[in-house]
Amino acid sequence: MKKIDKNKELKFQTRAIHIGNGVDKETRAIKRPITMGNSYQLPEDPSVLNWSGFGDNIYTRNGGSNQRYLEERLASLENGEDTVCFGSGVGALSGLFFSLLESGDHVIFSNITYIAVYRLLNKLFNSKFNVETTIVDTSNIENIKHEIKENTKLIHIETPGNPTTAISDIAKISALAHENDILVSVDNTLASPFNQRPIDLGADFSVESLTKYINGHGDSMGGAVTGEKKYLDLIRTQAQVNLGATISPFNAWLIMRGSVTIPLRMRQHNENALKIAKYLESLEIVSFVSYPGLESHPDHEIAKKQMSPGFGGVLAFGLKANHNKHNEFVSHLTIISSAVSLGHDESLIVFIGGDDERQHLYPKKFKNGFFRFSVGLEDADDLIEDIQEALIKTDLI
Ligand SMILES: *Cc1c(COP(=O)(O)O)cnc(C)c1O
Repeated sequence: MKKIDKNKELKFQTRAIHIGNGVDKETRAIKRPITMGNSYQLPEDPSVLNWSGFGDNIYTRNGGSNQRYLEERLASLENGEDTVCFGSGVGALSGLFFSLLESGDHVIFSNITYIAVYRLLNKLFNSKFNVETTIVDTSNIENIKHEIKENTKLIHIETPGNPTTAISDIAKISALAHENDILVSVDNTLASPFNQRPIDLGADFSVESLTKYINGHGDSMGGAVTGEKKYLDLIRTQAQVNLGATISPFNAWLIMRGSVTIPLRMRQHNENALKIAKYLESLEIVSFVSYPGLESHPDHEIAKKQMSPGFGGVLAFGLKANHNKHNEFVSHLTIISSAVSLGHDESLIVFIGGDDERQHLYPKKFKNGFFRFSVGLEDADDLIEDIQEALIKTDLI
C-alpha cells in the first residue's frame, strides 16, 4: 500500500497533494471521504474521555476527521508544528486573540489589517475585556519599538496588508518581539503559504483565511491558525470547543480539495497580478498602483526578502476620477466581478471609499478611495482588455 514517508523532505507541491490524504479503510477509495456525522461512537467506558478535549473523535465541535486532515496539510504547508481550523478567517483571528489575551494585556497591531481585526481589538477586546491596544504603521519597525510596554503580550501584523498591500518585516519584528518576550502573529492570507511562510521567518503564529487562496474557488469559508502545539492546544480548547467557531466537515473537505492546486494557482496569480500592475502603472489616468512586486512599492525590498516566488494576486490602485466615474468604470467591466473577497479563481474588484471607518489610518494616497483588485486566473490579456474597454466607455482614456 502507498504510504507517504512523513520524515522525507517532500517539496511544497507534493505535500499540497498528499499530506492529509489517505486511503479510506472501509471502501479503499484513494480519497478520504466527507464525514458529516456530528457524533462519533464512544469507547466502552466513556468516563475515560475529556469532554472538552479534542484528541479523540467525540463530537464535531471538538474536532472532526475532515478538519484534522486539513489541519495536517496546512501545518505541513506553513512549516508549523500544528494547525487548528475554524469556520472562517475571522473565527481564527478571534479564537487566537481570545485564547492568548488576558485582561490588562497590551497588543500592538498594524494600521493596515483586515477590518475585523480593527473592530475586534480596538472596539471589542478593549472595551469588553480591558485589553489595551496600540495601532501603528508596522512597516516601520521603529514605530513598534516606541510602543512596547511591560504588559505587551502580542504584536499582530498583516503582510501584505489588506487592502493597501503594506509590507511589514516579519523576521525583524519577530526578533524584536522575542527579545521582549512578546508573541507575534502574522495574517498570511494575502501571500498564502506558497509565497510566504511566517513561521520560517520567526513568527509564532501564521493565520489564514482559508476562504481566500487556500480554498481558491470562492465556494466555502474557513480559517486557520498554525503554530506551536502548546499554544494550539489552548486555542483548540478555549476557542474551538468553548466558543464553537468550528469548521464544517463539508467546508473542510472543499478547502482540502481546493488546496491541492495552490502551487499552480498561486504561480498564475503572481504572474497575472504583476502584469496587470505594470499595465495599470503605465496609464496616465491611474493615480497610483500599490503591489509589493512593483519596484515603486515603498517596501519592495522587504517583500523580495520574505516573499518567494511571487507577491500574490492582490493589488490596489487609484483613478484620477470622481465618485460617479468610479462606479461607472466598474459597471462597464464584463469579466471582472464587482464583489468583496479575494483569492478566487475569478477576478474581483471592490471600491474602498472615503467612508471606510479606518480612513484616518491609511497613508495619504489611499485617503480619497481606491480599488482593491484581486487578480484572478483568467488570461491576463483578457483582463487588461476588460479594464481598457471599461476605461474607454467611461471616457477616462
Ligand atoms: C478575508 C480576510 C480575513 C477574514 O476571513 P473570513 O474567512 O472572511 O472570515 C482575514 N484576514 C484577511 C487578510 C482577509 O483578507
